[in-house]
Amino acid sequence: MLPVIALVGRPNVGKSTLFNYLTRSREALVADYPGLTRDRQYGRVKRGERDCLVVDTGGITDDQEGIDAFAKKQVEIALQEADVVFFLVDARDGINAADQAIADMLRKLGKPVVLVVNKIDGIDSNTVTHDFYSLALGEPVPIAASHGRNVHELLGRIDDLIPPLEDEFEEQDPGIAIAIVGRPNVGKSTLVNRLLGEERVVVFDEAGTTRDSIYIPFERNGQKFTLIDTAGMRRRSRVSLTVEKFSIIKSLQAIEKAHVVIYLIDAREGVTDQDAHILGLVLEAGRALIIGLNKWDGLSAEHRDFVKKQIEMKLSFLDFAEKHPISALHGSGVGKLFDVVHSLYDSAMIDMSTPVLTRILSDAIAAHQPPLVGGRRIKLKYAHQGGRNPPVVVIHGVQTDALPAAYKRYLMNYYREQLRLQGTPIRLVFKSPE
Ligand code: GDP
Ligand code: GDP
Repeated sequence: MLPVIALVGRPNVGKSTLFNYLTRSREALVADYPGLTRDRQYGRVKRGERDCLVVDTGGITDDQEGIDAFAKKQVEIALQEADVVFFLVDARDGINAADQAIADMLRKLGKPVVLVVNKIDGIDSNTVTHDFYSLALGEPVPIAASHGRNVHELLGRIDDLIPPLEDEFEEQDPGIAIAIVGRPNVGKSTLVNRLLGEERVVVFDEAGTTRDSIYIPFERNGQKFTLIDTAGMRRRSRVSLTVEKFSIIKSLQAIEKAHVVIYLIDAREGVTDQDAHILGLVLEAGRALIIGLNKWDGLSAEHRDFVKKQIEMKLSFLDFAEKHPISALHGSGVGKLFDVVHSLYDSAMIDMSTPVLTRILSDAIAAHQPPLVGGRRIKLKYAHQGGRNPPVVVIHGVQTDALPAAYKRYLMNYYREQLRLQGTPIRLVFKSPE
């Protein structure tokens, strides 16, 4: 489980500035994948051993009438599912009624809250910070989000507040873990039922909070699989229609645990902006990906073309992903999914030797030299494996900081082709001596 931080506070206190600072490492990724737009609300924070998720609740005290019901619901869910809340106030404004109101609400939430006094740049932070003790939320932490000042110390607080998050799932061998993800009503439960067929399964449901998915282990042709069902329940019969409580955080936690993600899009509706944002986060997590174009049955040829074009345009950053038209309802295209999942798993978990990775590197360089920087050529010397799921290639060289995004992209594609990787992103890490 990734710990979840929710950023809360009235408008203009600096939430999105802090969000941007925390998720900065993402910029590099964006550069290597043209077409990937950042989600301004959900992001990933690189932090020691384990990353965190951060959610900017943005609109919390904005005119609540003004924000749409969906956004409002997601703010509530984010607060429920957060492990820790960073409550931001503005050092320059002092305490005001809106801060008081939020503080009251947060005290009732019963979650760890860190009171963050932002914009302390150029002012005497001791005096200012002192005033905020009266909010009765413990010792305020002064920061300047726009300069990144004291943000590291702020993150340090997390370890004291959140015990290491353990869960049952990680302790057992899931075999190949497949997350079924997508917006409400795209057909996730229908697909889960279809994939399981007549399989008798024991479903285990964790603590029962909204952020927990259902885990369904089973065997097929001697291979162990676990389906991670984010729809929340295996609806065998549709006697009672339960409205799914859609949680983006839950989807992100499921993605984290998966080897392969099957992301369903309702082909009747096409790709929504929200699909694009969640898929951006799948890429950031580095997961092998199948995009299932569900409800393909009964679509006109024109509409099918439209959806395919739309995917090329809106999801250009996912050129590595497998795209499969399916009908979860009628079963067409579903039978093949297991084989595809298997190949993607093999790609995501590939073992690559240093001689092979180094040879591919020199072939790539021979075909296309790295550019000159200040009259000197950037040198790339050798490569070794740095991880799996996704495959990570660590490339050692000189002046690698100056490598342009286009050349990194070229290397990424070259490795993907040579290693015959299917459906998984590959991550390149460059190392130069100091
Ligand atoms: P949000 O509405 O809470 O998301 O606030 P924003 O992140 O949009 O910030 C509101 C304004 O405060 C912007 O003009 C920021 O540049 C400014 N700001 C944010 N953090 C700092 C800071 O640490 N110091 C100073 N001086 N200004 C800041
Ligand atoms: P979930 O909310 O993502 O779990 O979606 P459900 O599995 O509950 O499906 C939502 C609705 O879409 C139901 O009425 C399903 O019968 C319907 N549905 C699911 N898959 C398909 C499909 O492939 N084709 C068609 N025509 N309808 C489907």
